[in-house]
Amino acid sequence: MLRRANTALQKLRCLSLQRQQPTWRLKSTAAGEKALLYRPGQSIHGFTVKEVAAVPDLFLTAVKLTHDRTGAQYLHAARDDSNNLFSVQFRTTPMDSTGVPHILEHTVLCGSERFPCRDPFFKMLNRSLSTFMNAFTASDYTMYPFSTQNAKDFQNLLSVYLDAVFFPCLREQDFWQEGWRLENENPTDPNTPLVFKGVVFNEMKGAFSDSERVYAQQLQNKLFPDHTYSVVSGGEPLNIPDLTWEQLRCFHNTHYHPSNARFFTYGDLPLEQHLQQIEDEALSRFQRTNPNTEVPPQPQWTSPREDHVTCGPDALAPDPANQNTLCISYLLGDITDAFESFTLSLLSSLMISGPNSPFYKALIEPKIGTDFSSVVGYDGSTRQASFSVGLQGMAEQDMERVKQIISQTIDDIIMDGFEEEMIEAQLHKIEVQMKHQSTSFGLSLASYIASSWNHDGDPVELLRISETVSRFRQTLKENPRFLQDKVKHYFKENTHRLTLSMSPDAAYMENQTRAEEDKLQLKIQALSDGDRQNIYEKGLKLLAAQSEPQDASCLPALKVSDIQPSMAFTPVEMGSAGGVPVQYCEQPTNGMVYFRAMCSLNSLPDDLKPYVPLFCSVITKMGCGPLDYRQQAQQMELKTGGMSVSPQVIPDSAQLDIYEQGVELSSCCLDRNLPDMFHLWSHIFNRPHFDDEERLRVLLTMSAQELANGISYSGHMYAMTRAGRSLSPAGELQEVFGGMEQVKLMKRMAEMPDLSQVLRSLPRIKKHILNPENMRCALNATPQKMPDAAAQLEHFVSEVAGNWKERRAVRTHIVERPLDPSASREPGPSRKLVSEPNFRPCQMKTFFPLPFPVNFVSECILTVPFTHQDYASLCILARMMTAKFLHGEIREKGGAYGGGARMGGGGLFTFYSYRDPHAVQTLSAFRKGVDWVRSGRFSRQDVDEAKLSVFSAVDSPVAPSDKGMGRFLSGLTDDMKQKHRERLFAVTEHSLVDVAGRYLALGHRTSGFAILGPENEAIKKDPSWVVK
Ligand SMILES: [Zn+2]
Repeated sequence: MLRRANTALQKLRCLSLQRQQPTWRLKSTAAGEKALLYRPGQSIHGFTVKEVAAVPDLFLTAVKLTHDRTGAQYLHAARDDSNNLFSVQFRTTPMDSTGVPHILEHTVLCGSERFPCRDPFFKMLNRSLSTFMNAFTASDYTMYPFSTQNAKDFQNLLSVYLDAVFFPCLREQDFWQEGWRLENENPTDPNTPLVFKGVVFNEMKGAFSDSERVYAQQLQNKLFPDHTYSVVSGGEPLNIPDLTWEQLRCFHNTHYHPSNARFFTYGDLPLEQHLQQIEDEALSRFQRTNPNTEVPPQPQWTSPREDHVTCGPDALAPDPANQNTLCISYLLGDITDAFESFTLSLLSSLMISGPNSPFYKALIEPKIGTDFSSVVGYDGSTRQASFSVGLQGMAEQDMERVKQIISQTIDDIIMDGFEEEMIEAQLHKIEVQMKHQSTSFGLSLASYIASSWNHDGDPVELLRISETVSRFRQTLKENPRFLQDKVKHYFKENTHRLTLSMSPDAAYMENQTRAEEDKLQLKIQALSDGDRQNIYEKGLKLLAAQSEPQDASCLPALKVSDIQPSMAFTPVEMGSAGGVPVQYCEQPTNGMVYFRAMCSLNSLPDDLKPYVPLFCSVITKMGCGPLDYRQQAQQMELKTGGMSVSPQVIPDSAQLDIYEQGVELSSCCLDRNLPDMFHLWSHIFNRPHFDDEERLRVLLTMSAQELANGISYSGHMYAMTRAGRSLSPAGELQEVFGGMEQVKLMKRMAEMPDLSQVLRSLPRIKKHILNPENMRCALNATPQKMPDAAAQLEHFVSEVAGNWKERRAVRTHIVERPLDPSASREPGPSRKLVSEPNFRPCQMKTFFPLPFPVNFVSECILTVPFTHQDYASLCILARMMTAKFLHGEIREKGGAYGGGARMGGGGLFTFYSYRDPHAVQTLSAFRKGVDWVRSGRFSRQDVDEAKLSVFSAVDSPVAPSDKGMGRFLSGLTDDMKQKHRERLFAVTEHSLVDVAGRYLALGHRTSGFAILGPENEAIKKDPSWVVK
């Protein structure tokens, strides 16, 4: 989602190891070398160079500058990566919970001096080939990043971003729309009651329907009670209506000033050009100010504190007695001390991560709660860091016991310290993170340095990770009790610690609603008749503005002709290892090897299918071969960058009732550890441990808790999956593996007193899945490493040959697709897909009542598969409807956080809304969208914009580790993708009207509907809905 809540950002504490994508040329270092020629003291376009530093481990050169007149700070990371990134961040330190920085973040994106059209930010999504555009509000800064691989696009986006943040219109109307307003429920009818509306108002109501979010917010507010961290920067729904338009503009004046700004650029584009554009278009119009936004250190408490808060009950847990959370949070050192932060962050991982850590042993394994508290470990997002540890999902009477365990565990750590191997495993993890080439590296860097730099820490020092690691090793060598001393100082002897408990309150939702109602009445009582009339007129004016045809011609734009007509092909080689088909893909993986395998589920009996996700989540965590689960975890951390297994449902590219079902094995390691990684896999294949019911219970409980907690964040995904369930066999299996049914099953299993039956299903599943007969593999490695990797894979296959069994498929309809479609005609290795010719799509409407104040709504329509000639038109159509119609109806008018349409590979065209105050009204907005397209009230320009937007996704960079994976998993060859590309180019206005009529118009195709949300009278009365 756009404008994702700040928590995601706050969690990015180290360079992220996401499976994403880049396209740089590792061997050349042109950008980095060129940047080394800058000299401190050199003056460039109003900036002065302060420092130039090579960071060889990250293949980059850092250049630090200051803007002479305003004092704006600037960091450039020159690196041979074409995915260039820009970000500007302001230190925003609110002193109340009206959400002023958050509402400002939204409002500056509603139009600016040079770009006065409505919502230029969203419009640029369709006029650019950006690989990322977003804005975040953290506790103490607001950040605006974008990235793109196109130089012209970079300049365009930079102009729009600079103008937005420094010269926004901040119209009163923007404030009403994005912040809050009083308005008639139906704006065209002055007799309907007045209600609160506004995007941020609704967004925060949605955010705080998540108990985890409530807890995290309260914990921070109470641990830092004396300054900006004591308030809710995103906005507390009840305080948002206290904010005035005037206050918003004032906050902008003081905080969004160059003297309070930090600019960051990254990539292979020349620095001078960036500096000149920033100076010319923004900074030259400012003088230095003293923004006075420093956050003072939190005064240390002389004695520990305790507090208690309440939350809404967990809808999926039957027993409210076991829904308590308790955690202890400790104030740590200043995050601008890079070495101390590194040490504390590593120490935190040693204390809590994995089954070998002392807190896991002491808190998780006795099964007092379902999982660690949602806030756990090191948090470096505030000026002083904090460490938290505790449990969720526990009984009230266990609270004292948990406190004692925490204190006892700290004593034990001080006494015993950590095994050397555990420390090595953590340092190995850092080495892997540095070597792994991600495509969002610029963004990871921006997030990584943001907090410390925000408080004037040295961002360059943060980048010198290897030097910090060496210093850490040296320090530990000189003082083997170094870490224990830290534990003693920061935990045992620290009087600034907070014990915060949270328990569910059945009346929580009701109280929230009543408090909102009281607030509303207070506002309404203060109104004169004239005010009411005024509100009605303003509402009409806003509605009219939202419905006006929009002229975005002031905005810069790329053209369809700027898109590369053909894509870069990825060469792969097909071969086999001991009879198992293998895809080899040589890539600049920087000393890493990536291994994947796909194992078919075709022979698995149907009754075992629902347990496949559980199997996947525990198979690498129960112990294997001679290793118990602790030793296994240790070896995985020491020798690999992670080993995981996940269920896959892959729709066929040509026929809607055909799909592949399997599980994907995925792992990576440093070149030197390849034999160890395969050795671990062969233990898992040959002798996984399935005898420890207690271990299974721990893992199951944690998975179930995680799934249940994820609903308020990913509700739209669950609604979409459910809506597609009755439309295709692949959609049906998706629901089994990853839908609400799966969440409920996991919850049910977690509550079963006896797990022996579940435990017995695991070896049965294993026999079908971990079987080389049904397997194909893929390796991504450097050309130098590939021959060795191939030999090691061959050895692995010979080691697991004992599992080789020919098993009959449960369904007799098997369709084979060649793994290498370009190969000669003789039958080669193939993917075995399942066909269900008897499956009949049917309409189904499902409603899941949940204790949220907002809805997630979806409608899903069965259309055509990937290779069908209409597929490309449907992709463009989904994008155009989202940008030109649904966004306006669902977000701007409806007040939802987001909404739109998307086209999926399985032929499912899906509408959705996210954190939406409406449900039935949104369903009719979907329908109106279809009518809008069919009426043809859009232009050639609209279609071209949708094409740009679709291509920015199609051409988003792919990491060396992920090259060739689309082909490996889905059988999509470069030729097929190129053909799709050509069809995308060829889409016309006419073809959109045509496909909308033939596929999306009512009654033409089968559709499914799903809503997750609060009790809904209209739906209850409508017998066509199934209420779950
Ligand atoms: Zn927001």
